Amino acid sequence: MAAFCSPSSNLPVVYLPGECVHILPTWSVTIRVWLKRDSGQYWPSVYYTMPTTCSCMSFNPETRRLSVGTDTGAVSEFILSEDYNKMTPARTYQAHQGRVTVVLFVLEIEWVLSTGQDKNFTWHCSESGQQLGTYRTAAWVSGLQFDVETRHVFVGDQSGQVTILKLEQDNCSLVTTFKGHTGNVTALCWDPVQRVLFSGSSDHSIIMWDIGGRKGTAIELQGHNDKVQGLCYASHTRQLISCSSDGGIVIWNMDVTRQETPEWLDSDSCQKCEQPFFWNFKQMWDSKKIGLRQHHCRKCGQAVCGKCSSKRSTIPLMGFEFEVRVCDSCHESITDEDRAPTATFHDSKHSIVYMHYEPTTGNLLTSGTDKVIKVCLSVCCIQWSRSEAHYQTRHPDTYMI
Ligand SMILES: [Zn+2]
Ligand SMILES: [Zn+2]
Repeated sequence: MAAFCSPSSNLPVVYLPGECVHILPTWSVTIRVWLKRDSGQYWPSVYYTMPTTCSCMSFNPETRRLSVGTDTGAVSEFILSEDYNKMTPARTYQAHQGRVTVVLFVLEIEWVLSTGQDKNFTWHCSESGQQLGTYRTAAWVSGLQFDVETRHVFVGDQSGQVTILKLEQDNCSLVTTFKGHTGNVTALCWDPVQRVLFSGSSDHSIIMWDIGGRKGTAIELQGHNDKVQGLCYASHTRQLISCSSDGGIVIWNMDVTRQETPEWLDSDSCQKCEQPFFWNFKQMWDSKKIGLRQHHCRKCGQAVCGKCSSKRSTIPLMGFEFEVRVCDSCHESITDEDRAPTATFHDSKHSIVYMHYEPTTGNLLTSGTDKVIKVCLSVCCIQWSRSEAHYQTRHPDTYMI
């Protein structure tokens, strides 16, 4: 299981399976491995100083291989000792011309995938150290996921699109491009079991792209009030965990049948009361009516006037966990049962830059701009707020050896 890091973060963290170890570059050029001691407290075991600033990390627990991307474009690999008390440099790849934004090590094929601010996606063989190929992306990449079985790579970039590439040994081909966000793609999460891709964006939304279902559906999830910063999927409970820079954490129940949002229809007049909208000058002239503003019902997609869409409702199965505009007839059709939330909302109380979920323990780790790391134990839909146990440290002060 490869951990992955937030590209926009200057405080990336890798969280290891088991409760005992965390690795993080705390002071931008240093990497620390945190071990849980008998006292229940975390203390750093390794304190490694890099020649340059770390920008992202990926850890493979099976081989204890740590891949670190840097500001100068290099990807450095380290092997951690079995007791996590030593970190040995293994190899350095000069992968990019600028900052490495995402690095991902794939054990099954021994490849190191990376993206950089030079707008290149590259992949190296970790056995030979050779660069196998490179692909020019539309903008710099902030989300990278890989499907081992089919060798498809998902690349989310700053232009808001998600590109799907099929990787071969030394070349790759463009499969398709998903365009759904109005802001940057900030996070990607691939569930290889359901074959679903989640993308998070600075436009506050998450889109679930149903790739394996072959229906090509794209389902929106609206539950954040700020930039989405991280996405993790718990496949055993079918929960999606998302976080945003305002500290919000949303746990989505994905074990429900969700519906696509309708396309917005265009009309010159309200599709309910037939009053013309303000730009329909001819009809306005003919009927001597004053034009109205066009709105859209989020449930049926019809173009309606304000008077015919005065009510608001949540539509959780369409991903609207917040109240949105609906037309009066749709409002009547939505039952209390339909309004039952499909997500729970939590406040991490810090501005999250990175999040990691560890499925074996159910622990969720967040790190913030406040340089605090929080570990929330046994995150699960119902008990989350009750069992929430924050481990906080303000480093380097508190935990410097
Ligand atoms: Zn109307
Ligand atoms: Zn409607």
